[in-house]
Amino acid sequence: MDFLKMKLEKLPRIGMKYGAILKKLNIETVEDFLLHFPFRYEDYSERILIENLAAGETATVMGEVVQSKLVRTWKKKMMITECFVSDETGTVRAVWFNQPYVSDSLTAGKGVRLAGKISEDAKGLFFSNPAWELSSRTPTNTGRLVPIYPETEGLTSKWIRWQMQNMIKYADALVDPIPENILRGLHLPILSEAVKSLHFPKTLKEFELAQKRFAFQQMFLVQLATQRVKISWDKQNAASIAFNETLTKYFVESLPFTLTDAQRKAAFQILKDLEKPLPMNRLLNGDVGSGKTIVAAMASLSAINAGFQVSLMAPTEVLARQHFESISKIFSKQDITVGLLTNSYQITTDNRQLTTNNKKSRDALLQKLKNGEINLVIGTHALIQKDIKFKNLALIIIDEQHRFGVAQRAFLQQQIAEINDGLPGKIPHLLTMTATPIPRTLTLAFFGNLDISVLDEMPKNRLPIVTEIVMPSKRKDVYDFVRSEITKGHQAFIIFPLVEESEKLTELKAATQEHEMLSREIFPDLKLGLLHGKLKAGEKEQVMADFKDKKYDILVATSVVEVGIDIPNATVIMIEDAERFGLSQLHQFRGRVGRSDKQSYCFLFTGSKTIKAKSRLGAMEKTSSGFAIAEEDLKLRGPGEFLGTRQSGLPDIAMEHLSNVKLIEIAHDYAEQTLQNSPDLSDYPLLQKELGKFQSNVHLE
Ligand code: ADP
Ligand code: MG
Repeated sequence: MDFLKMKLEKLPRIGMKYGAILKKLNIETVEDFLLHFPFRYEDYSERILIENLAAGETATVMGEVVQSKLVRTWKKKMMITECFVSDETGTVRAVWFNQPYVSDSLTAGKGVRLAGKISEDAKGLFFSNPAWELSSRTPTNTGRLVPIYPETEGLTSKWIRWQMQNMIKYADALVDPIPENILRGLHLPILSEAVKSLHFPKTLKEFELAQKRFAFQQMFLVQLATQRVKISWDKQNAASIAFNETLTKYFVESLPFTLTDAQRKAAFQILKDLEKPLPMNRLLNGDVGSGKTIVAAMASLSAINAGFQVSLMAPTEVLARQHFESISKIFSKQDITVGLLTNSYQITTDNRQLTTNNKKSRDALLQKLKNGEINLVIGTHALIQKDIKFKNLALIIIDEQHRFGVAQRAFLQQQIAEINDGLPGKIPHLLTMTATPIPRTLTLAFFGNLDISVLDEMPKNRLPIVTEIVMPSKRKDVYDFVRSEITKGHQAFIIFPLVEESEKLTELKAATQEHEMLSREIFPDLKLGLLHGKLKAGEKEQVMADFKDKKYDILVATSVVEVGIDIPNATVIMIEDAERFGLSQLHQFRGRVGRSDKQSYCFLFTGSKTIKAKSRLGAMEKTSSGFAIAEEDLKLRGPGEFLGTRQSGLPDIAMEHLSNVKLIEIAHDYAEQTLQNSPDLSDYPLLQKELGKFQSNVHLE
């Protein structure tokens, strides 16, 4: 029988109760359990003689119990187990609080291992609540590198270790999806060995190699996924869009500013791509405020001038609407009809009436897309729906926000290739724009086969935003400062974090409370708006529009304001509990101000005195370069957090290797070879299955 597929709840050692807890973590079978990896290790591998113990250090000792007793403190009503353990060099005391059963096991004469931190009190050195086990047992919790698992309620690391110790033998049955010759060539362990090493590494080296194997697997899958998409993408045809130099020049000269060199270069690269009869697949990688929209507009103009349609997709309705407004303005002197299609409303530039969602207006807009009356349509993901037909769609632009997970991209590309573009035998050119600059190391890892244009230069009229970390004692000064800016006619954002999934329900309450408190106690004479995730798209719209129209002086908002909202008159942003956000996200927030020639300010409130939070936030004070911040963020949080997508099937610890450029290159080459040998991977059924799993896991996000 296949032990790996056995349900955990059926195992007598685990049973229904634990089975249910594990199920919540998506761990149902023995195989799932084996692939549930520790996220760190406690190094109890070195045995120390008792005479060499020192306070503050972490150590394992081995000896014999000489005395053990259970004491009840009368004051605190606490049960204390006190135990003395001796080895050939001395005796040490160990105490456990409220674990009376310890004294049952540790009776005099028993051989025992203790591991933990050494403390010191008036009576001398002692272990406080150490990990322990009888010396007769295989070292699991002491005397080795002890795995620490992510804990959930009702499931301790110790319990998982104990179960794992019994189940690890089944790892031998795991079959490796990666061809063995590849792993051998890299001197990496095969799956079964790597799994054993991750749970119970004998040495640090063994653990590192196992970790590297999983990192390699991840990179290899990513490379296979992207290369496969690239191969099929490159086999397609696209409309060739002639580059009209005169028109482009004329358009650029009509702008109220001069393009940065980076914008010029990126636009040129894109326009050159569009000329080819092959579909472009280019990423416009640029910082907040680096002016990606105008570059996208230049590409659109070129396509529309050549008689084609363009579609631009934004991640949210608010952003789609904003793009609609700004692009309609950019093209106001051109004979271009722009349409907006989201689930809430449909409008076109020739009919500037806002129409809330009803079937009639939607049908009317779809009709115009079909007959070509609309040249440029802007919208959300509602734009890739099966019932939407174009007359001749030649270019799709995606303002991608955070959705730059590799598999999502692959999925999106597939959808795009299937769009009813009205051009038989052709697919649209694709331009994606990031909202957060992506560090070089990651573009290599995830977009190895993608053409990239980088906007690493800010428009000249920008003043760097003055950024300051604020300790609680200085709060009032900042409020005063905000007030002084508002007196000058400017506006301010106040952001506070409520980002975790589990907190979504209380978001409304907290947002409302914060807004009320500020309106009543701090700024009673000012007008405060409130923006949070529970508002309907139309309501968010209204709040943003009102803020833009200066109906509010201050906008209190949760992280929904993060995406590219443009309020040039806002000059101050205060961010509460700043340490709870990633640096890249803070940088996004900061990008909400400084969008004009006025001096802008960003205040990061933190109550956290921990050095880490401070040094992390310090990067915000030091640099205004989104690329530098992204690199830093990547280093601190790792690619998993940075990308914002949990790439399933991958131990977090392996993610650390994602900045290993050499390994990425190797994965790239092996993926290329593998696909050359077997383009559809039919020679590698396990690998094919793993790739399918990897891709479907990420789609669901
Ligand atoms: P993002 O890259 O964040 O999408 P946008 O395209 O929204 O940035 O541009 C931000 C602001 O900068 C807009 O108001 C835009 O009109 C302006 N802008 C774009 N390019 C330039 C430039 N070269 N010089 C001055 N202002 C510019
Ligand atoms: Mg933008």
